[in-house]
Amino acid sequence: MILIFLGPPGAGKGTQARRISEKYRIPQLSTGDMLRAAVASGSPIGQQAKTVMDAGHLVSDEIVAGIVAERIEQEDCASGFLLDGFPRTLAQAEMLDRILADQDRHIDVVLALNVDDKALIDRLKTRVKETLAAGKEVRSDDNVETFSKRLEVYQAQTAPLVPFYAQKGLLREIDGMQPIEAVAREIDDVLGHSGTAQ
Ligand code: AMP
Repeated sequence: MILIFLGPPGAGKGTQARRISEKYRIPQLSTGDMLRAAVASGSPIGQQAKTVMDAGHLVSDEIVAGIVAERIEQEDCASGFLLDGFPRTLAQAEMLDRILADQDRHIDVVLALNVDDKALIDRLKTRVKETLAAGKEVRSDDNVETFSKRLEVYQAQTAPLVPFYAQKGLLREIDGMQPIEAVAREIDDVLGHSGTAQ
C-alpha cells in the first residue's frame, strides 16, 4: 500500500501517519523529519536546507525528491510506505509519479486532512506551550511568524495537489477538525472501503 498524507502544517498528518504506519506495518516517510536529520548531521544538504526551513520556505524539489527516491528503494519499503509531507508541489507530485512508474508501482490513496487556518494557529500555540512545559526544544520553524509563512506556502504551492489527485480519482478528504480518535476512525473507514488496506 502506498499512501500519501496531504494537509497544511499542524493538520495532524504526523500523528495519523504514525498510527497507520504501526497498524499496517509500513514505514512512515516524513520529509520534514528526514530534512531535520540532515540539518542535525551538518551534511551539505542539511546546511543548505536549514536556512530555507527556518524561513518557512520549501527546500528545492530536486533535493527532496532525491531523498525520497533513495529512501523508497530500501528493503523496508518493498511492501509499501506512507508519505507525510511529500509531495508538496505539483513538480514533486510529477517527479513522484515518474519515480513510481519506473518501479512499476502506483499510489493507492491520498488522504487530505482538512483543518481551517485559525485552528492550525491555535494548535501551534498549544504545541509550543506543551513542548516548553515538557522542557523540550521547540522546532526553530514553530513560531507564529514562520508558521504563518508555512501556511501561505501551503496555500500557494501545496493546495493545488488537492484537485491534481482528485482528478486521478485518488483523493479522499478527511475532516481534520475532529478529535484525534475521530479522525483516526474516519481514516480507518476510508482505508477499509478503498480496498487498499491489507
Ligand atoms: P514538516 O515537518 O513537514 O512541517 O516540514 C518542515 C519543513 O521542511 C518545511 O517547512 C519545509 O521547509 C521542509 N520540507 C519538508 N518537506 C518538504 C517537501 N516535500 N518539499 C520542500 N520542503 C519540504
